[in-house]
Amino acid sequence: GNNEGIRKILTVCPYCGCGCGLYLHVENGKITGVSPSRSHPVNKGSLCVKGWNAYEFIAHPDRLKYPMIKQNGAFKRASWDDTLNFVATRLDEIKKKYGPDSIGILSSAKCTNEENYLMMKFARAVIGTNNIDHCARLCHSSTVGGLAAAFGSGAMTNSIDEISHAKVLFVIGSNTTEQHPMIAMHMLEAVDRGATLIVADPRRTKIAEFAHIHLRQKSGTDVALLMGIMNVIVNEGLVDIDFVRRRTENFDAFENVLRRYPPSVVEGITGVREYDIRRVARIYAMEKRSMLFYAMGITQHITGTDNVRACANLVMLTGHIGLPMSGLNPLRGQNNVQGACDMGALPNVYSGYQTVTDPRVRKKFQMAWKRKLPQNPGLTLMEMMEKAYVGSLKAMYIMGENPLISDPDLNLLRKALERLDFLVVQDIFPNETSEHADAILPASSYAEKDGTFTNTERRVQLIRKAIEPIGESKPDWEIICELSNKMGYKMNYRGTYEIMEEIALLTPSYGGILHHRLSDGFGLQWPCNDIKHTGTQYLHRKKFARGLGTFITVDFMPPDEPPDSEYPFLLTTGRIYFRYHTATMCKRTAVLEREEPESFIEINPDDAERLGIRNRSMVKVSSRRGEIEIKACVTNKTPEGIVFIPFHFRESAANILTNPATDPSAKIPEYKVCAVKVEPL
Ligand code: SF4
Repeated sequence: GNNEGIRKILTVCPYCGCGCGLYLHVENGKITGVSPSRSHPVNKGSLCVKGWNAYEFIAHPDRLKYPMIKQNGAFKRASWDDTLNFVATRLDEIKKKYGPDSIGILSSAKCTNEENYLMMKFARAVIGTNNIDHCARLCHSSTVGGLAAAFGSGAMTNSIDEISHAKVLFVIGSNTTEQHPMIAMHMLEAVDRGATLIVADPRRTKIAEFAHIHLRQKSGTDVALLMGIMNVIVNEGLVDIDFVRRRTENFDAFENVLRRYPPSVVEGITGVREYDIRRVARIYAMEKRSMLFYAMGITQHITGTDNVRACANLVMLTGHIGLPMSGLNPLRGQNNVQGACDMGALPNVYSGYQTVTDPRVRKKFQMAWKRKLPQNPGLTLMEMMEKAYVGSLKAMYIMGENPLISDPDLNLLRKALERLDFLVVQDIFPNETSEHADAILPASSYAEKDGTFTNTERRVQLIRKAIEPIGESKPDWEIICELSNKMGYKMNYRGTYEIMEEIALLTPSYGGILHHRLSDGFGLQWPCNDIKHTGTQYLHRKKFARGLGTFITVDFMPPDEPPDSEYPFLLTTGRIYFRYHTATMCKRTAVLEREEPESFIEINPDDAERLGIRNRSMVKVSSRRGEIEIKACVTNKTPEGIVFIPFHFRESAANILTNPATDPSAKIPEYKVCAVKVEPL
């Protein structure tokens, strides 16, 4: 029949953290299509528009096909050998002259676990620095820190296939329908079975349109909203007292602060009616099968860690954790952002969140890697950029990241990158950041290599090589090994399965995760401590990872840059369905590009009328840091006083405007609130 000659290779979608199972269709060495796995626990035979189109970019003519070195301002093709020698020599020189901490490394949430593990090994063992980070700094660093302190583990507690059997779904700061489409599918199944959906979001997002109750708190007031809800729970006797007594500590101190947040006060701060605060508190607390979800609306604030702590307090107060169909569920954005964190592509931990300051841990890694390892935590992504700007960070090695679109205050960032003595970029496409590189290393896409991704519910899954690498590109893990060998540290693995064996040996939560155990079925959810362990559906069942759960006292703090008379609008940023991150893959996919070709600013009809702005006319938006021109989209999806811009677009880049002020502990920038002025053009 027609299907003769088509091979179907089971792998994992390269886009979002849902981690859908899909088949790549291979004909004559080319990928010609995609189809969903029917039996996968997440996508169950469906895919979103990005998944269905997750192949066109693979053979796009823009792919980086050979290594390049910049000479007199222009990139020249070079051999792998010459390019890697050049990179190795420059990194060595800089390390000798300025010390290992003058080098910064960015790993990638789009690369496999094995590659992230090797990159952090490269930073620590080969360069000798803990300056390694990745874009989780910009999306969920407040989750990792906030939940580690409260529970001892910073991951989604429950599983996606539990969602459709829950009775209450409370979604705060997550545009789930657009950003985690298959998770939203499970939510709507629950609603069809009678569950109540509560959404808290200043914008009327798609998921808010399905909600039974939509709370529109002012951006940046989540702590107050959650404290108000918990105040009602305590005052109306809805606390799970048994759970609080047996499984938690520090409740009394927390309760003292909670008194300051009666719903009447909270209404004044958040703009949410007292009546609705009470209603949500009762509905959420009284049903045992209540799941709490959040995403970047919670994390991307200077109070991101406090927002996360407030969520953790809410699930402990009600005992909605450690059970199926409950828990606290941060939705991780990129396909392997969970894995990149798990693998220790972070400045303070090795794989499995083992801290670099713990002498026993360090000794274990030193013995395994046969190198003396640095003992102080390294620089976070934003700190690296600050140090580059002032000239004390001299070189960066960036794998699969594009900070020149994704980071706040882009004008400053560009100067920081220009001041580096040496920049090497490793990626599948040229991008805004690689323009500033001294050398470019062409990497292979997910379809051209083996390895594993870990999705948002901690599910470690195999990706499988479907075609040979395009051009002279190589899988990231091979490039790291070759560079390491050139720098005099032997890294030789027969395949990615061997890297996973090393990970399992050194990482308790991945102790039983080996490739051969993942090859049938749909992976294993960590913790999976040994070879007999069948994985963990939900966390903190009998006790928390840290023993007792801790109530951490939080207090409302206003955003860093609230609107004022000069910049009267509150700008919030986010993502849209047809786009993904800095758009390097989706803008090379016809369907996705066609649906949403240009950026826009959402503005409320009353604000638009007052300013004389017509729908689809061009406007100028400015903040204290820069200005952009952009098309107006007049809609009451955004409330008065708030405007919204998606961050994906190079033209009209939202991050020219955003505020680089960061959360004091997580160092996550406040993408969700800054002050801007909007003027008709
Ligand atoms: Fe891919 Fe996410 Fe869409 Fe699934 S929901 S197909 S993982 S982008």
